[in-house]
Amino acid sequence: MRTISKNLSNLTRSGIRMILDKAVLLEESYHLEIGDPGFDTPEHIQEAAISAIRGGNTHYTTHAGMPSLREAILEKVTKENNIGARFEQIGVTPGGVFAVAAAMMAISEKGDEILIPDPGWPNYHTQSVVIGLKPVYYHLSLDSNFQPDISSIESMISSRTRGIVINSPGNPTGAVFSRQVMQDLLEMCEKHDIYLISDEVYERILYEGEHFSPASLDPDGRVISIFATSKTYAMTGWRIGYYVAPQPVAKAMGRAIESYLSCASSVSQVAAQAALTGPQDCIAEMVRSYAERKDICVEALKKAGIGYATPQGAFYLMLGIADTGLGSYDFSTQLLDATGVAIAPGLTFGPKSDQIIRISYCANKEDVEEGIHRMCSFYQACTNV
Ligand code: PLP
Repeated sequence: MRTISKNLSNLTRSGIRMILDKAVLLEESYHLEIGDPGFDTPEHIQEAAISAIRGGNTHYTTHAGMPSLREAILEKVTKENNIGARFEQIGVTPGGVFAVAAAMMAISEKGDEILIPDPGWPNYHTQSVVIGLKPVYYHLSLDSNFQPDISSIESMISSRTRGIVINSPGNPTGAVFSRQVMQDLLEMCEKHDIYLISDEVYERILYEGEHFSPASLDPDGRVISIFATSKTYAMTGWRIGYYVAPQPVAKAMGRAIESYLSCASSVSQVAAQAALTGPQDCIAEMVRSYAERKDICVEALKKAGIGYATPQGAFYLMLGIADTGLGSYDFSTQLLDATGVAIAPGLTFGPKSDQIIRISYCANKEDVEEGIHRMCSFYQACTNV
């Protein structure tokens, strides 16, 4: 009998992608749903990739990545993240997305539990299900600006819990966890002897506070740090992520790369090396533009009297829609149909997030400006009926 995996067929699709699929069919649409920077990859990075292609750097690399790139990563995480790591602890993946999956695979067996945030990036849920883990959501509430409640998280830890995924600066929350919060989370992990998977792909996109890598405090090899060039350098299509993990975990993650992918693209690895070792002023320029777009959104929401959580980092803004009487999918589809504005429904980020929506403001400025104004008018029309 020919069958299709129930595990895969029953997997919930990302609500962001569902809205995007509909939006691209419209003649006029405003893309405030997807987290893809509206900038081209900086020119010096493009040039490095072109030279790699012309120079024949178009073959497999070792599974954990080109040694020269791993050296560049080692230097970066040592200097910028204060992580005391060795070369063997570093690996390169096709996008941060696979580093998260490899981390989950490396620390668990089928049936084990993993704590993930609600609201959180939808792939944490789908990946754990694909791998055969049981995802257990911990809630981050809009009222507490999406900061973690450690005692409530602690109450969810069972004998099957193998790790917790945290994400700061956060998607979709825009929240940044302080050094103290990281320290508290790490103490909780030590107490219950579980791993901390720290997703730091938005580390450089900050408006207030500072980014703190919990691995810099790691007492005994329990933190797996995940980074990517995707958001920092507007390189989402190049697909380069990387990790720093305790040595036995890094080795197991390397096995996952070898089994599923062989290695990340050699051309993209050269581009990533140019990104990490080349001029860094492009980051500040892009972050300045995101800050400007954030301010446009905040001003529009204030003017319309719509409440929101102030983003400290990443390029997302969350707002409550309870007043509209609509669930987040209804709100998103009706908004798209009525105005051409695509946003992300909260429910895709977790079961307790149906009363919120996410605005992504990394698209081009004109789209963000027009999109947020249309969204505010739609919101007001919903609350006036
Ligand atoms: N982690 C978070 C929180 C994300 O939002 C994303 C992408 O949107 C990723 C990881 C994966 O990034 P990449 O494009 O490098 O795979």
